[in-house]
Amino acid sequence: MKSRLFAAATSITALVVLLFLAPFTAQAQDTTIKTKQQAELLIPRPALQPVKSLDPNAAETLDTLDTANPHIKILLLSDYSWKYYKDADYGKDIAEFNEYWNNDQPDPYHVPLDALQDEIALWIVDSLCGYRCPHQGEVYSKFGYRHGRRHQGVDLPLKTGTPVYAAFDGKVRMAKYFRGYGNLVVIRHENGLETFYGHLSKILVEVGDWINAGTMIGLGGSTGRSTGPHLHFETRYKGYAFDPQWLIDFSSGTLRHRLFVLKKKHFNADSKYVPEDEQVEIDILEGDTRDREEAAAKAEAERKALAAAQYHTIRSGDTLGAIAIRYGTSVNKLCNLNGISSRTLLQIGRKLRVK
Ligand SMILES: [Zn+2]
Repeated sequence: MKSRLFAAATSITALVVLLFLAPFTAQAQDTTIKTKQQAELLIPRPALQPVKSLDPNAAETLDTLDTANPHIKILLLSDYSWKYYKDADYGKDIAEFNEYWNNDQPDPYHVPLDALQDEIALWIVDSLCGYRCPHQGEVYSKFGYRHGRRHQGVDLPLKTGTPVYAAFDGKVRMAKYFRGYGNLVVIRHENGLETFYGHLSKILVEVGDWINAGTMIGLGGSTGRSTGPHLHFETRYKGYAFDPQWLIDFSSGTLRHRLFVLKKKHFNADSKYVPEDEQVEIDILEGDTRDREEAAAKAEAERKALAAAQYHTIRSGDTLGAIAIRYGTSVNKLCNLNGISSRTLLQIGRKLRVK
């Protein structure tokens, strides 16, 4: 037994030696090992290791640092940069993820519009929240009225099976088939925004998942009320939809704002996105019109007041108090109308405006 083991070990050693020598003694040893496969049968090789990415931009984490928030760490990366890392419990106590939360209604809020502020400043991305365009392409059907129905988002045509990405970090609130939306994913974000991804052919996330911007949440398709494969994408705040193009330029895939001021008027169906400089011009024009109207109204009021003005010529013995009583006004009003004080000496013959 021992000798057989010894013999086997010897022959394996011999093979190893032969393998090394093979290139040099190929002809002489030709009959011993003919193929690589034969050699592999005799000399086990270590299991294949997964090939590491050769992406030169892919930095590895070298170290982690704590921050004041126990759920946020700072990762130090091998390319001398750093980034924040949020753990699984981050966001658990953030009110946005606990209020009005359900898994089967597109609008769980039912908040009256009056309850919202006229202008809501929203940080769209910051050092803790990233962005990725859900699907880059031309907007085929815009936000607003369409065939008499309100279209709550934008339609982006795509091929069935195209990956659809989460626009921002957040938590999955809905992931199911829902009426006209077909397969629908709704993600709520930290700033209170919600994004909707409709007509998916496949949903790849589950309710309650915490996801980062750029996570593939599903594949594009044509489920639900849809005439062809496209992504129906919505942005909502407290249940109210606004034109996603205010935030995202879908044709270039870029985000328009880091900080976005959402205005209540954006919730109107006719409040389609207008390019920034155009909007600035509209605002200026509207402002000008308003200023002109206000100035005209003010001038008209002054003209009317002047037309209705009454004067009193001061005579000997007149006092402001007596004049005020006579014309049914007050000393204060008389002073304001004439730019005088109650102690101003009243000169006889001077005209005093009383109304
Ligand atoms: Zn649509």
